[in-house]
Amino acid sequence: MADSKKGKNRCSFCGRSESEVGLLITGMNGFICDSCARQAYEITEEALRASRKGKGLGLTMEELPKPKDIKAFLDQYVIGQDDAKRFLAVSVYNHYKRLLQKDHGDDVEIEKSNIIMVGSTGTGKTLLARTIAKMLKVPFTIVDATVLTEAGYVGEDIESILSRLLQECDYKVEEAERGIVFIDEIDKIARKSDNPSITRDVSGEGVQQGLLKLLEGSVVNVPPYGGRKHPEQKMIPVDTKNILFICGGAFDGIEKKIAQRLNTHVVGFLSGEKNGHIDKNNLLQYIAPMDLKAFGLIPEIIGRLPILTYLNPLDRDALRRILTEPKNSVIKQYVKLFEMDGVKLSFEDGVFDYIVDKAIEFKVGARGLRSIVEAIMIDAMYNIPTEHPESYTVTLEFAKRQMERANVSRLQNM
Ligand code: ADP
Repeated sequence: MADSKKGKNRCSFCGRSESEVGLLITGMNGFICDSCARQAYEITEEALRASRKGKGLGLTMEELPKPKDIKAFLDQYVIGQDDAKRFLAVSVYNHYKRLLQKDHGDDVEIEKSNIIMVGSTGTGKTLLARTIAKMLKVPFTIVDATVLTEAGYVGEDIESILSRLLQECDYKVEEAERGIVFIDEIDKIARKSDNPSITRDVSGEGVQQGLLKLLEGSVVNVPPYGGRKHPEQKMIPVDTKNILFICGGAFDGIEKKIAQRLNTHVVGFLSGEKNGHIDKNNLLQYIAPMDLKAFGLIPEIIGRLPILTYLNPLDRDALRRILTEPKNSVIKQYVKLFEMDGVKLSFEDGVFDYIVDKAIEFKVGARGLRSIVEAIMIDAMYNIPTEHPESYTVTLEFAKRQMERANVSRLQNM
């Protein structure tokens, strides 16, 4: 606060005294220093610019990225998963269209199509969601369903999902109300009532009921800072009618439910001609809403996630491509790191296949590729910046030697 004694005046914003700042401007009831004044100016400029841009999307129907454009963008970063990409591309495109729709008085209202993606861990669900976020012109956030519990229990209330979205757009409610939320690990809130060790289904049906409210579209009171650490915080009402929800989950074991439905068995299968074309190695591709129900999602939730798609398991070929092809693939990142030291990095034939072999052997999937490359490269990265050769080639023999020395158990615990 203002201190009337000369020389003791302080900035009412940052609290610094007159001697600590360049200039202190005096107002009726306080002071502001030069740096706070500058910041205030920038904040007002930013806010005014945003409001001048208008409340709309800032895009016309012609400017909207078309589903094929969206997929092409995803292709740069995510290998394979064509079905999931197409479903996502169409949903996001339709989401934009919904936001642009005008009331023509014809009673046709485009309903939102929330998405659910089913696929083993590490196959690219989060990567797809993150990549979509890169090209979006709407606020986007990723939340983890495992922290959600019913109101009154330890953990986060359902509404806190939207706190993150609000934070993403600096609490501009109107923007948040047309955003996209990726809910990861949605399978963790499946009903677990078969499990006798759980007396109260804290993370089960109750949470799903709560989530249903958000998916359906209703006005919910959102704690701006999330969690329960700020009991005094004033709730912000947010309408979820236009928020697109994309859910993802591994649904471990759901193949058995699919197999049961397909009237076949995961092991030793394929007798009847009826099932002649079923690919038992990738049963997820046959996933249907009723499998989600059998897994423990309540029918109301499934009904609100009308677009169901799946991710393929990553085979050797996919892993090999993931290593080198995406725009920011692990190998490209290392080449860049060396380039910054003025060193041209290359790999002998066979090194990439060896890395993929190791990822398969250790069962670490795509997520483990990075740690394997790291284990191989660590000594080179330590020495090269001082030794400064013009180029450096990683030989197969070197890669093998480095891997033998590496702490393999650390890689396996991923
Ligand atoms: P999920 O969400 O399905 O568990 P992630 O998307 O988090 O898996 O994938 C983990 C990491 O593995 C990603 O950050 C990426 O580096 C790599 N990855 C997985 N799948 C793919 C893919 N299809 N294309 C490119 N990289 C992938």
